Amino acid sequence: MSRDADRPGEFDIISRFFAPLSKGEFGALGLRDDAALLAPKRGNEFVLTVDAIVESVHFLKSDPPHAIAQKALRVNLSDLAAKGARPRAYMLTTAWPPWVDGTWIEAFSRGLAHDQELFHLTLIGGDTVSTPGPLTVSITAIGEVVQGGMFKRAGARAGDDIWVTGSIGDAGLGLLGAKGDLGDTPDSAKQYLLGRYLVPEPRVSTGLALAGLVHSSIDVSDGLVADLEHMSVASGVGFEIQSGQVPHSPDARRALSVLGEGPGFLLTAGDDYEIAFAAGQSARPLLADIARRTGVSLTRIGKVVEKSAGVTIVAPDGGLLQFARKGFTHS
Ligand code: ADP
Ligand code: MG
Repeated sequence: MSRDADRPGEFDIISRFFAPLSKGEFGALGLRDDAALLAPKRGNEFVLTVDAIVESVHFLKSDPPHAIAQKALRVNLSDLAAKGARPRAYMLTTAWPPWVDGTWIEAFSRGLAHDQELFHLTLIGGDTVSTPGPLTVSITAIGEVVQGGMFKRAGARAGDDIWVTGSIGDAGLGLLGAKGDLGDTPDSAKQYLLGRYLVPEPRVSTGLALAGLVHSSIDVSDGLVADLEHMSVASGVGFEIQSGQVPHSPDARRALSVLGEGPGFLLTAGDDYEIAFAAGQSARPLLADIARRTGVSLTRIGKVVEKSAGVTIVAPDGGLLQFARKGFTHS
């Protein structure tokens, strides 16, 4: 295999940049064995998820390396959050194209180090390959829940409220911004939206706080409408969403009015990495407490109805909104 200029060899990369990230998890064996060992804490079980991000599809080559690392980890942490799991460890596969050098990888590893601290998890293994194609980073994240405690997509019941964390549509606008397509949107708004696209905020603390209250839950990553559709189908009940209640940031509203786009853009944009979930009406006061405690807003956007599976979006004037494109679909 021919190696590319200015990049340390595979074993140097692992020992210099990745092995230090395995400290603290004994079963990682310092990334010096063929495999790692891991056991859940007593009474717990593992929650496993994997997501890959690909240059030009999920991030741009020009994005900062530490932000690419953080995004790769955080899209996985968002899945764990939506399942109510506590992050524990992760495995990392990196496919480096020729243009990636040692400096780039060092900055990338600093992004991982930062987020490991923040979200309390440890690197326990992975694989390193070269590629003639786009830069690709795949992470398998491992979290823990009390046995039987994982939130599923199935389980929403008629009469439940539908909730969503944070705000919807920021990252979709941020991607437009990264491509220079936000027109005369004020710079401060562009900066905020770009940040939401580059480095998502996985709702880990909220997911943990929701234990015992959630009937069904999903990670919102492909677009709110598309992901609610998945949850509705898995649960076998209909959802009725009030578009006027879906939370959008002030900067998203500003950008939207500059672009002359309707709210439909925000409901289908993707990359939100928020949690949508169904909970009984009796949970309302507890959910208000959780929002206060975690500092992450929880907004009631609709309800589960006694209808066959499917999502109905009701506009403020009572009319129904239809979407040609419900979200991002991978081909
Ligand atoms: P193998 O020969 O089985 O592919 P490697 O030489 O690729 O093993 O890996 C040696 C060790 O380094 C293993 O513990 C592996 O988990 C770890 N490792 C390799 N690449 C990475 C990576 N990108 N991130 C974290 N650990 C890695
Ligand atoms: Mg290998």
